[in-house]
Amino acid sequence: MIHNFNAGPSILPREVMEEASRAVLDFNGTGLSILEYGHRTPLFEAVMAEAIQLIKELMQLDENKEVLFLHGGASTQFFQIPMNFLSQDRTAAYLDCGIWGSKAIIEAKKFGAVQVVASSRDTNYSYIPHAFEIPKDACYFHYTTNNTVEGTQLRTIPDTSVPLIADMSSDVLSHAMDFNRFALIYAGAQKNIGAAGVNLVVIDKTFAATANAHLPTMMDYRQHIKNGSMLNTPPVFAVYVCLLTLRWLKAQGGVAGIQRINEQKAKLLYETLEALPVFHLPVHETDRSRMNAVFTMQDERLEKLFLDRCTTEGMVGVKGHRSVGGFRVSMYNALPLSSVQAFTDMARDFANQYA
Ligand SMILES: *Cc1c(COP(=O)(O)O)cnc(C)c1O
Repeated sequence: MIHNFNAGPSILPREVMEEASRAVLDFNGTGLSILEYGHRTPLFEAVMAEAIQLIKELMQLDENKEVLFLHGGASTQFFQIPMNFLSQDRTAAYLDCGIWGSKAIIEAKKFGAVQVVASSRDTNYSYIPHAFEIPKDACYFHYTTNNTVEGTQLRTIPDTSVPLIADMSSDVLSHAMDFNRFALIYAGAQKNIGAAGVNLVVIDKTFAATANAHLPTMMDYRQHIKNGSMLNTPPVFAVYVCLLTLRWLKAQGGVAGIQRINEQKAKLLYETLEALPVFHLPVHETDRSRMNAVFTMQDERLEKLFLDRCTTEGMVGVKGHRSVGGFRVSMYNALPLSSVQAFTDMARDFANQYA
């Protein structure tokens, strides 16, 4: 039995992979693989339309929001956003609370003036700064909702009238929030919504209309909107896997349904580790991520033993990111509660052995 705690690409529901593999051999009874099937066909257009519809439904988006499936991963959004929306005479505001957000800042600076409203860099991003002010005249405010590497999460939406932009790569659709508050949301699919190779973008139409002129066509959100995410060949298979995952999510009771399970998983994991003195949780309780739990061991010499134990028991992907060390347990939507139960049972047993 394998328990998949990978940070990304990461676990997908079993039934999604079974159906996706059937479509690789025979897409919807056509006798052709989805890999050899045209994207400008009624059958694939229906895949794209349903995926877009399910995002609108699951996020409860208003009429003014457009859903796009684009190439290039979340990292392309790091520069596509300032390329479109950072105007020369103004400033973009960023919250610097994790490695991914800091990469977004580096890219934005290539296009204009950036103001970092707060940073937790000096503590290796072990917390989320909560006291910050967003300049009222900023073109937009960018932040990362869940810091995948550092294991922190900001579940409340900053209160501002400045257009909000969020990188939700590692917690999109994992808990309820007012997605309509955002001018732009983006998320690489490979953590919570599907396979690598596609990026979800939700953009407000009015905001999109304010983009800079003279953009390369593929970088222009307005062009993607006009062409229904089919400006060029979309990543057909990755979009199909998203569709299957979104259908699965809807069957779980949507965002509210999955939130209940995600809360149970995180509660079980954090409460178990907190009660075992061999483990150390570096992130303050209020900032802890429900998607990626980061921890170390009080006695560093035990870390290798614990990692060996994880390997023996089929617990995959628990080694921490190289920049943080220790361990990281990712509990994305598709991870069942039973995997967290198996992990906490093992952790308790290990702690008793070495106490
Ligand atoms: C994984 C991740 C990224 C990078 O995504 P790519 O699709 O690989 O570019 C960006 N931001 C966050 C928060 C992530 O977790």
